[in-house]
Amino acid sequence: MSVVDKYIDYVKEEAKVEPKKGWKKMVFGFWANKWKTKLAPKKGISKGYQKLEAMMMSLVADTLGEKKPYVWGNIFAPCELMQCFGLQTLSIECLSCYLTGFHLEDYFIDYAQNEGIAPTLCSYHKTFVGAVDSQVVPGPDYAVTTSLSCDGNLNTFRYLEKKIGVPFTFLDVPYSDDRDSVVYLASQLEELAKALEQRTGIRFLEERLKETIRIENETRKELMKFFKLQAVHYYPGELISHLYMMMGMHLLIGTKEFLELIKFMVEDIKTYPKFEGKKILWVHLMPFYQESLKKYFYASKKYQIVASDIILDFMEELDAEKPFESLAKKIIRNLYNGSYEHKADMIEKLADRLCPDAVIHFCHWGCKQASGGSIILKERMQKKGLPMLILDGDGIDKRNSHDGQIKTRLEAFLEMIESGGETC
Ligand code: SF4
Repeated sequence: MSVVDKYIDYVKEEAKVEPKKGWKKMVFGFWANKWKTKLAPKKGISKGYQKLEAMMMSLVADTLGEKKPYVWGNIFAPCELMQCFGLQTLSIECLSCYLTGFHLEDYFIDYAQNEGIAPTLCSYHKTFVGAVDSQVVPGPDYAVTTSLSCDGNLNTFRYLEKKIGVPFTFLDVPYSDDRDSVVYLASQLEELAKALEQRTGIRFLEERLKETIRIENETRKELMKFFKLQAVHYYPGELISHLYMMMGMHLLIGTKEFLELIKFMVEDIKTYPKFEGKKILWVHLMPFYQESLKKYFYASKKYQIVASDIILDFMEELDAEKPFESLAKKIIRNLYNGSYEHKADMIEKLADRLCPDAVIHFCHWGCKQASGGSIILKERMQKKGLPMLILDGDGIDKRNSHDGQIKTRLEAFLEMIESGGETC
């Protein structure tokens, strides 16, 4: 057993009996991992993905360790607005993934369920609720969430407010994309800016938000360039690299630091050889711990994930001169808002731009967003001549995922596309 594994086991047990001490050691673990990823990055992975991993480790370690001001959010919370007040956003879904680094997800999920949380609640939420309920994870001063994509958000954040007194703003996202909806959501965002102004004592400067949006536009353009290049060049990454990219696009979008990284990746990927294998477009979440998926997508020359819909869930240019309206449009037009037809349209556009050879749709256990319309998407992709695999599992709770089944289905699918499944 390595020193790291021993430390993980030790912290895992300590968190159960001495939650506050356990938390301190977990944060130390994040901090140690930050330096490990900076000084001794994983071998066999491209420089860009190494830097991305180090950046995401720093984001979590620095925010929690140095006690920088931050808010809890869900992944669709407008981090651009929080940045105007020097606040980092940490999404509860991503934090839950980090907690699994200490193999505590089973304990937290069971803890939440024993406290009366419905077993049907999404396991990302259950993990987080259990971590807070068991007094391992302390709360920040504020939280911001949205109704986008998931009706579990309101219940979870309401519960956390009641349990440990973290007040929150809930952004009610209209389902339809029309003028009234944009005005309605933009006014909620303006109210949020006022609430953050009062809470932090920092004056809101609209120019700062405009600048953040300008950087965001540039980042999105660069990312699209990178995805197009990733469909042509071999750029070794791993399954979790795409989860880190999703984190960056939702928690650091609008920062110069993240833009610089994507620009670096655009240049770096050009130095890599041509990719000769099969290109995969990934849909929805990344079960980053799943052994077979990890193995098949680790720096593979045969199968490369070229993009994921959850990384690029909004593709338009924002009007920086109307920042609140633009952020409202961004949230309303998100791929995960509205009907499943809307989602299928956007994934189709992504497929048209990147020409993958196949699509893999991961259906997270209990998530209506994932499983609800997967057949619609499969039919759309089939019309384009794109084979699509639907994989069922759980993005976080290993007990709901069966590696044997996933392996069998994945291997059969990859064999099928190897033997000449239709491409676009
Ligand atoms: S995975 Fe699905 S159920 Fe879970 S938080 Fe995301 S949208 Fe909600």
